[in-house]
Amino acid sequence: MRDTLQLTLCLTHDCTLRCAYCYAGRKYAHAMTREVAELGMETGLVEALRTGRGVDVSFFGGEPLLEWDLLRHCHAYMERRAAELGVAVRYGITTNGTLLDRERLAWMAERDYLVGLSVDGSPEMHNVNRCYADGQGSHAAVAAALALMQEFPTLRSRGICVVNPANHHLLCEGVEWLHAHYNGVVGLNFDYWSEWSDAQFDSLSRQLDALQVMMLESYRAGNPIREENIEGKIWSALRDAEQACTHCTIGEQELAVSVDGHFFPCSRMVGVGDDPQITFGNVYSGIDRARQAWFIATRGNATPECRLCELRHRCLNTCGCTNYAGTGSINRVSPFLCNLEQKLIEMADDLAETLCQEANPAFIQRFYCC
Ligand code: SF4
Ligand code: SF4
Repeated sequence: MRDTLQLTLCLTHDCTLRCAYCYAGRKYAHAMTREVAELGMETGLVEALRTGRGVDVSFFGGEPLLEWDLLRHCHAYMERRAAELGVAVRYGITTNGTLLDRERLAWMAERDYLVGLSVDGSPEMHNVNRCYADGQGSHAAVAAALALMQEFPTLRSRGICVVNPANHHLLCEGVEWLHAHYNGVVGLNFDYWSEWSDAQFDSLSRQLDALQVMMLESYRAGNPIREENIEGKIWSALRDAEQACTHCTIGEQELAVSVDGHFFPCSRMVGVGDDPQITFGNVYSGIDRARQAWFIATRGNATPECRLCELRHRCLNTCGCTNYAGTGSINRVSPFLCNLEQKLIEMADDLAETLCQEANPAFIQRFYCC
């Protein structure tokens, strides 16, 4: 993995959708100004130079494609300044797909963008949460975007499927739909902001058991379902767990710039508003080094139960934004996270053991030949 600074620019709070679980904050027509965007990029470039890193620029929202002209302006600005300063840069976007068209995809494919498309699986699963302001589901639009994306085989992409208490019971049919309509990797984004009751967690567990069977059969059929969480857990078993584990770099390798120019330590925290506990400076005053030092000193995991847990190096327990969502503290895990991580690790281990015993060619190709 490249050593990079993740620079996220939230181009607008506005959106074409009104998803029930949206954490992007108030959806009013409020775009980032060019001045804020340029100052944010300058801060990112200075940080990259200071720490000897490249920059991954990510456009985020709201729906960033509402600000297509601003996005292209930022791209041109970053290209010019990164070249002047000798900083390596790559680009990505997270979009709901409603404003994707062939021309925009071609533009992004040409510039090697990583397109993260938010699509919650099947029509039934997706439309539970991802609706327009009039309550209509948006699945038809995102399915059309997914089909368009397949016209660009070199385009880097990933599907993002949010799983929350309201749609988790449709998880398997959602993954099945995605597998049939998209040949890329999918990340299940579990909703850590919501309360999950015990009954809902049990129901989610049953869906995950069924998903494990589906994944096993997909490997046996030579057409594996690719899901980031499970693959990550398999990697963490195959490699030295401490090495393979992604340690959260909150406050250090992530810089998210809100529409108004405030700095956040992670893109997933921008929606909390301008909470002084979470922001660390802005494009005008620069990075607040005292706050940054606090993030670096505080991040990690201070949950006593985790200290002796044998899964601690394979578990998401150090993820600052996930912890913040679940407990309001960047270094304390929630019971939901703990239960879910145990479940995902168990699933990954069972799946890997069976496929190893069967010497499954697709599994060996995926995990031992790269
Ligand atoms: S598409 Fe994204 S930004 Fe828009 S409402 Fe849904 S979650 Fe929020
Ligand atoms: S599985 Fe639970 S107890 Fe173990 S490290 Fe993860 S969060 Fe902590």
